[in-house]
Amino acid sequence: VRFHDLDLPLPLMHAIADLGFEYASPIQGQSLPHTLNGHDLVGKAQTGTGKTAAFLITVIDDLLKNPFEGERYAGEARALIIAPTRELVMQIADDARGLCKYTDLEIHTLVGGMDYQKQQKALNERLVDILVATPGRLLDFVSKRDCFLDQTEILVIDEADRMLDMGFIPDVRRIVRQTPRKTHRQTMFFSATFTPEVDDLVEQWTSEPVIVEI
Ligand code: AMP
Repeated sequence: VRFHDLDLPLPLMHAIADLGFEYASPIQGQSLPHTLNGHDLVGKAQTGTGKTAAFLITVIDDLLKNPFEGERYAGEARALIIAPTRELVMQIADDARGLCKYTDLEIHTLVGGMDYQKQQKALNERLVDILVATPGRLLDFVSKRDCFLDQTEILVIDEADRMLDMGFIPDVRRIVRQTPRKTHRQTMFFSATFTPEVDDLVEQWTSEPVIVEI
């Protein structure tokens, strides 16, 4: 599959071309035709497969094609990406900035170990389109009503197996509960390994997902 054939918005196409991507990687080729149509995705994929671009292209395509109707409020995220570590959050946000360079979409990060007030101030300065966060700090923001997820259209759970291993799932569960119910949002769920516990999360958080295994 060539990116050219996917009918992506021009600003996104230009950014993809700037990155030198021409052909979709296997996970991108197998998931994008479905996720671009709004289907949920369960991806069994490691890093290095291009999974980040797979979900980011889906998120950006959706946000550009469906401008938000109605009034927007500070701290409301249209798309939410949850990942286990600060490093991964920063990497995802960097990739998102690259892919959004010709758009006016706002990308924001929330991670632990950084000054809360500073993050709060930054979050309130602009409307948030894409929020990338680690679970603990995000839950702090949601609990203190500094961040709102009731308008979140797309949810990405990255490296679910690592979040399980790190004991983050109770936090993620509380976060997911703040988003629209699964039939009213698009969910993309990634994990390198699938255990009965991971399968359980898939069952709870996704709705008729396309399953792609790389
Ligand atoms: P990831 O698995 O998301 O960590 O991505 C691994 C690397 O592959 C990143 O450095 C991406 O920039 C790169 N990449 C992702 N998609 C493509 C593609 N379709 N063509 C070439 N490189 C890609």
